[in-house]
Amino acid sequence: MKLLATVLEQVEKRNPNEPEFHQAVQEVLESLEPVAERHPEWVKAGIFDRIVEPERQILFRVSWVDDAGRVQVNRGFRVQFNSALGPYKGGLRLHPSVNLSIIKFLGFEQILKNSLTTLPIGGAKGGSDFDPKGKSDGEIMRFCQSFMTELYRHIGPDTDVPAGDIGVGGREIGYMYGQYKRIRNEFTGVLTGKTIGWGGSLARTEATGYGLCYFMEEAMNAKGKSFKGSTVVVSGSGNVAIYATEKVHQLGGKVVALSDSDGYIHDPDGIDLKAVQQIKEVRRGRIKEYLADHPKATYAPGCAGIWTIPCDVALPSATQNEIDGDAAARLVKNGCFAVGEGANMPSTPEAVQVYLKNKVIYGPAKAANAGGVATSALEMSQNSMRLAWTFEEVDARLKAIMVGIYRNSARAAKEYGDPDNLEKGANIAGFEKVAKAMYEQGVAY
Ligand code: NDP
Repeated sequence: MKLLATVLEQVEKRNPNEPEFHQAVQEVLESLEPVAERHPEWVKAGIFDRIVEPERQILFRVSWVDDAGRVQVNRGFRVQFNSALGPYKGGLRLHPSVNLSIIKFLGFEQILKNSLTTLPIGGAKGGSDFDPKGKSDGEIMRFCQSFMTELYRHIGPDTDVPAGDIGVGGREIGYMYGQYKRIRNEFTGVLTGKTIGWGGSLARTEATGYGLCYFMEEAMNAKGKSFKGSTVVVSGSGNVAIYATEKVHQLGGKVVALSDSDGYIHDPDGIDLKAVQQIKEVRRGRIKEYLADHPKATYAPGCAGIWTIPCDVALPSATQNEIDGDAAARLVKNGCFAVGEGANMPSTPEAVQVYLKNKVIYGPAKAANAGGVATSALEMSQNSMRLAWTFEEVDARLKAIMVGIYRNSARAAKEYGDPDNLEKGANIAGFEKVAKAMYEQGVAY
C-alpha cells in the first residue's frame, strides 16, 4: 500500500484497541490502492481519509430490570458511518461480545455493501453487549424498550433505519418498534425486519440466506459449477444459516452440517431442516437436540471442527473470524471449491489468502450477504408507498439484485486486472459509487 498507507496508520493511531475495525479497513484499503492511483481527485478531496471516520458515534447506557427485580446495566451503540447514498441503514446486534470495534467494523463494511445493492441507503450498525441467551420474554421486552428509549432520538425513516442482526429477530424488532411508536406517536418504517401484517416485507426473513445462494450460484455458474449435486457445510443455525440451507436444498445441493456457539451437528444424509427450525425458531433450543430424532447424525462440541467435514461448498454463516488459515487449508485439501460468506467477515485475512491462492470461488460477505439489507430497503419502499408486494415479487427483485451485485463485482475485478478476485471487485464497485457521491456533495456536509 503506497498512497493509502497513511490512511491505515491514522486509523490505527486514532482507534487503538479496535482490531476488528483495523482488519476490515485494511482489507478494503488494500483493494482500493489502484482506485486511488486512477482518481487523484478523490485522494485530494480526502475521500479515503473521510470514509474511515464515522459521521457520528452514539454510546449510551441501557438499564433495565430483570425478573428477579435486579437492575441490570448494558451499553448501547449506534455508529452512523456514512450517509452519502441515503439514510443510515444497518442491523442491531445483541451479543455479549459486542464492543465499539465490532460495531465499527460492521458499520464500515455496511457502507460498501449497501452501495453494492444499488439502493439508496447509507451505512450504519448498532447493538449492545446484552446477552439474550437464557432471558425470559419479559426481560427481552424490557431490555428492547429501554434500548429504544434512548435510540429513538437518533433515528427516523429519513435519517436512520436499523434492522436485525445476531440476537435480533422479529420478536426484538417488534418490542423496539412498539416503544418507538409509543414515544413518537408515529407509525413509520423506522425499523425493518418487522413481522408480516404491520409493515414487514414478505421474503425479508429468507433474504440473506436466499441471496447468498443466488450470488454463489451465479459465481459458480461462471466457472461451470453449481449447487446441484454439491455437498455443503453451513455454520450457524440462525436466520442466515437456516434460509441458506433451505435454498441450497431447493437448488439441488445437500447441506450436511450446521452449528451453534456450543458445537456442530453432522448428518451425512442431509440436514432435516424442519427439525432444525423446530429446535431453533420455535423452541429456541440448542443444535445438539437434533440428535434425539436423528440417530445417524453426530454432534461435536466447539465450532472450529465443522470445517474438517469434507464438502464442495462452505457457507460460513455464524460470526466473524470463524475460518482461519488452517481451517481454510483443510477445506481446500478436502476438495472445497467455493466459499460464500453469509456472516460478516467470517474468514481471517490468512483464510482469504488461501482461497485466492487455490482459486476457490470466493463470495465475500459484503457482496454475498447483501440480500438481507437489500430486502430491508425494499421493505422501506413498500412502507413509504403503503403497499405490500407478494413473496414472488420481492424474491424476484432480490434475485435480480444479487445477480447484479455479482456482475458488478466481477466487472470491477476484471477492469482492475484481477478477474477472479471478487473481494477486490466488490470493494472497488461498492466504493466507487460512495466516493463519487461524497466528492459531489463537498467536504463540509
Ligand atoms: P442469529 O442470531 O439468527 O444466528 C447466529 C448463529 O450463529 C447462531 O447459531 C449462533 O449460535 C451462532 N453464533 C453467534 N455468535 C457466535 C460465536 N461467537 N461463535 C460461534 N457461533 C456463533 O444471527 P444471523 O443469522 O442473523 O447472523 C449471522 C451472521 O450473518 C452474522 O455475522 C451477521 O452479521 C450476518 N448477517 C446477517 C444478516 C441478516 O439479515 N440477519 C444480514 C447480513 C449479514 P447461538 O445460538 O449459540 O448463539
